[in-house]
Amino acid sequence: MTRLLPLALFAVACGGPLETVPFEAPAAAQVDLDDPGPVVHEAVISATWSVPLKGLVDLDDAKAAELENGDHPIVLPVHVLTHPTAGAFIIDTGVPANESPAEGLAASFIGDIEPVEPLGDILARQEAPLAGVLLTHNHMDHVLGLVDVPEGVPIHAGLGEERPANANGRLMFPTFRRAMNGRPLTVWDFDADGIDLEGTRAIDILGDGSLWALDAKGHTPGSTAYLARTVDGPVLFTGDCSHTRWGWDHGVTPGTYTADHEDNAESLAQLIALAEAHPGMRVEVGHEAHP
Ligand SMILES: [Zn+2]
Repeated sequence: MTRLLPLALFAVACGGPLETVPFEAPAAAQVDLDDPGPVVHEAVISATWSVPLKGLVDLDDAKAAELENGDHPIVLPVHVLTHPTAGAFIIDTGVPANESPAEGLAASFIGDIEPVEPLGDILARQEAPLAGVLLTHNHMDHVLGLVDVPEGVPIHAGLGEERPANANGRLMFPTFRRAMNGRPLTVWDFDADGIDLEGTRAIDILGDGSLWALDAKGHTPGSTAYLARTVDGPVLFTGDCSHTRWGWDHGVTPGTYTADHEDNAESLAQLIALAEAHPGMRVEVGHEAHP
């Protein structure tokens, strides 16, 4: 007990990990991913930004020899997925209409993000009630809009996202904590609940095969990609497993923003294999609008 006390005090001083609740995964449906599903997808650009290319793409990869570091324009997308009976889900949260949860150094780091449509405005024009937030991971540029998410709406992320992964993550984590405002994180546990979906560990979120969480660890330990069977066919949302279309097309992982390059490379290869097996699959990368 006495030996645990200093550790407990340390956890309190640093805030410790966020409270988590397990996601109760339903039994997975058997589906053909190429069959059109019931989900309607709207891709929204919530903000634009510019960051160094070396963060977005591993410039040490031999395939990236043609690329040069420099400021690279990106977008902060919010993907709205409307299910006919379950309601609307959003993948990541863009920028908020309410006051930003970022403070201090973190706030100055993101000070030049240009809002296009804050999450509050995106949610206000939805007809279906918001049924859940599907976070790809806990980095600041994905969680700012959480302050616009109404109380009681479940906020999901992969197990591991309740704490920062590394020094970079620790810089951003207080912003996530403020944006969560005491709400628990409902976590996907791919070890416990994941089934094999064509080589990728997956959780069937609604149990009807229309909306899937996919294990995409590497960028952060709990990084999650999503797959929706929409009325127009399957759509894969890579999150920051691949920030850019170039990285996706060339199989090159993100650069300095990624915590574990080996895991990221494995996850990226799995997602690419999944997409190649379904040529009709639309692919939305983490930080660029679909062409
Ligand atoms: Zn990001």
